[in-house]
Amino acid sequence: MTLSMKDKILKRFLLASGEPISGQHLAEELGISRTAVWKHLQSLQEEGYAFDTIKKKGYLLLSKPDRVDAASVASMLSTKRFGQTIHYMEECATTQTISHELARNGALDGTVVIAETQTAGKGRMSRPWESTKGKGIWMTVIIKPDVLPHQAPQFTLVAAVAIVNAMKSLYSSFTPVIKWPNDILINGRKCTGILTEMIAEMDRVQALLIGIGINVNQQQEDFPESLHSIATSLSIEEGSLLNRAQLVGTILNYLEKYSDLYIAEGFSPIKILWEEASGTIGKQIKATTLTEVIQGKAIGITESGVLEIQLENGEIRSVYSADIELDE
Ligand code: ATP
Repeated sequence: MTLSMKDKILKRFLLASGEPISGQHLAEELGISRTAVWKHLQSLQEEGYAFDTIKKKGYLLLSKPDRVDAASVASMLSTKRFGQTIHYMEECATTQTISHELARNGALDGTVVIAETQTAGKGRMSRPWESTKGKGIWMTVIIKPDVLPHQAPQFTLVAAVAIVNAMKSLYSSFTPVIKWPNDILINGRKCTGILTEMIAEMDRVQALLIGIGINVNQQQEDFPESLHSIATSLSIEEGSLLNRAQLVGTILNYLEKYSDLYIAEGFSPIKILWEEASGTIGKQIKATTLTEVIQGKAIGITESGVLEIQLENGEIRSVYSADIELDE
C-alpha cells in the first residue's frame, strides 16, 4: 500500500480501535521525530479528525470525518492488489476519465480512483449520473486481467456480484438485486450503477475501468426531483447512516476474490452467483434495444454474459445491450 506518512499515522489510529497510541511509539515505529508525529496530528485535526491527549498513554482518536480516503479504506482491506493504491480526491469530473489517464500511464492492477463528488458523472450512453457530495461511493477500479476484449462485459457481472455480496455481508434490512446488465436495485429502485470501459488493442485488453456509483447516505431530499421515483440509497433502506469506507473496502475484497475466481475457473461460477442475485431471471421483461422491443421471459445469461429471452412462441433471443423493464 502506497500511503503518505500522514495516512500511515491515520491508519494506525483507525486500527487501534479506541486505544490510545503513544507518540514515542509512533515515532519509533515510523522512523520519524516526535515533532513530526505531532505536526501530522495537527494537520489531521485541520481535516476534521479529533484527538485527545491522555497522560502517559498518548493520543486517542475521538472522531473522524466521514470520508472515503485511502487510510479509511485501507483499514478495511484484506486484498493483495485491489485498493493497494488509492487516488482520493474531493472532486473531479469523473473518476473514469482520471482512470483512463492513469491506466495509460502504467497504473498497477487494482488501482482505485475515488472522489467525494463528480461534477460530470456518467452512466451508459453518457447519461448523467448524480454524484451527491460526500454521500455516495463514486469510484473506478482499474484492473488489468489477461483476457480478450470480448470478455470485458463479463466484468460488469463480476462487479455486480461482488457489490451485492458485499452489501449482503454488511446490511440486514434489505435485499439488493441485480438488474441486467449494470444496475443494482432495492425494492425496484436503483441504488447502484456500474459502467465498465476498456482500453484494448485488437486482441488484448490493456485495462478495464470498472466504474461504480453507489447511493449510500443520501436521504430522499438529497436526490433531484427527477430521480425521486427511480432512485434510493442504502441508508434510506437500512434506516441508519452507513460507513462508506467500510463498504468500499468490503467491495474491493469481494471484487478481487471474484475476479481471481473468474480468471482461475472461467465464467461458470460467476454465472451461478449472478443468477442467484438477479432480479431479472425468471421474470417477464420488456427489452428495448437500439432497433427493436423484445418481450418475453428472461431465462438466463450465457457464458458471455448475454441475456436470453424466451418469446411467447418459444423462440429464444439473445440480447447484448438493452434497457430492461419488468413487464407485469
Ligand atoms: P435504466 O436501465 O435504469 O434506465 P441505465 O442502466 O441505462 O438505466 P445508467 O446509464 O447506468 O442507467 O445510468 C444513468 C441513469 O440513471 C440516468 O439516466 C438516471 O435516470 C439514473 N440516475 C442518475 N444518477 C442516479 C443516481 N445517483 N442513482 C440512481 N439513478 C441515477
